[in-house]
Amino acid sequence: MIERRQEFASDNTGGLCPEAGAALQDANAGAAAAYGDDQWTQRLCDRVRELFEIDCDVFVVSNGTAANALALAQLCQPFHSVICHEYAHIDNDECGACEFYTGGSKLIPTPGTKGKIDLREVEAALTRQHELHSHKPRVISLAQATEVGTVYVPDEVREISAFANKRGMFLHMDGARFANAIATLRCAPKEITWRAGVEVLCFGGTKNGLAAGELVVFFNKERSADFGYRVKQGGHLASKMRFLAAPCLALLADEVWLKNARQANEAALKLANGLRSCGAEIVFPVESNAVFSRLDAMVAQNIRERGWDFYKFIEPDIYRLMCAWSATEDAISAFLSDFKAARSCASAAR
Ligand SMILES: *Cc1c(COP(=O)(O)O)cnc(C)c1O
Repeated sequence: MIERRQEFASDNTGGLCPEAGAALQDANAGAAAAYGDDQWTQRLCDRVRELFEIDCDVFVVSNGTAANALALAQLCQPFHSVICHEYAHIDNDECGACEFYTGGSKLIPTPGTKGKIDLREVEAALTRQHELHSHKPRVISLAQATEVGTVYVPDEVREISAFANKRGMFLHMDGARFANAIATLRCAPKEITWRAGVEVLCFGGTKNGLAAGELVVFFNKERSADFGYRVKQGGHLASKMRFLAAPCLALLADEVWLKNARQANEAALKLANGLRSCGAEIVFPVESNAVFSRLDAMVAQNIRERGWDFYKFIEPDIYRLMCAWSATEDAISAFLSDFKAARSCASAAR
């Protein structure tokens, strides 16, 4: 079977980065304490506290869906609701995990340009909640970077958290691509999280070069009480946690996470510039590792026939090309030349 080219289908198609691979080997040297009582997990939690410059509570889970769903379940009672963007991963790509883990909370999607929360739309959604007859709004959830690859600046996050606080609500940040956002912002992680009013961050590692592993970071320890029980009951307490923690620690040491994120972001810029110079429309500002382009259906089909996998993200004609940390110049050039060839085929067919 010929392997179809997966480079731009998702950042999850990328492999394990060398530093993470080496750390996995190191952690495999012999017996070690189970269930997170090992030295790698302890050091990882310390490193996260150092990175965020605050005494936060850190939990390791295997994937982003679990991180989001468990974090939101911690913030919400079953009668609460979570306001999110209409493109939010939690609402579109997690099979109702948040509703399931919260045991009844409702996600309320709202529109907003560039994939970002628009507080006027949130306000409008809030006015549609009728006291006892609707879920009680409890959380605003935003993705950093967003599902369309844009990045919130600290002022934007502060404005959203101020809005939330005024209404007794909390701010949750889905940071599946937090590294990509920080690589763009070049700010201290605290500036876009707890200092900007974020209550809990799901800090992604998988898309940044791990095999698996995401962190749930509570900046206010009052909010994390008994969260360990929730993680265990949800089936997310890894018994050999060192194999999740050691590679993650390797990413966060020596700024490997930022190096990987920069590589992915730079690849996306190159791909976007290449497509733009061939006349393609790039739909959203390229601020992380995603490129969204409007493509003619025949062109998209023709590129697929040339072996590339990628997905339509927004109907009717907006396609998503993701760059992983491992995206190469060769893959970008090969894609661009197939794009050009596909476009001339499509125009010749007319
Ligand atoms: C990938 C992603 C996640 C996590 O997805 P998993 O497949 O469960 O690891 C969460 N949020 C966003 C915005 C994502 O892109």
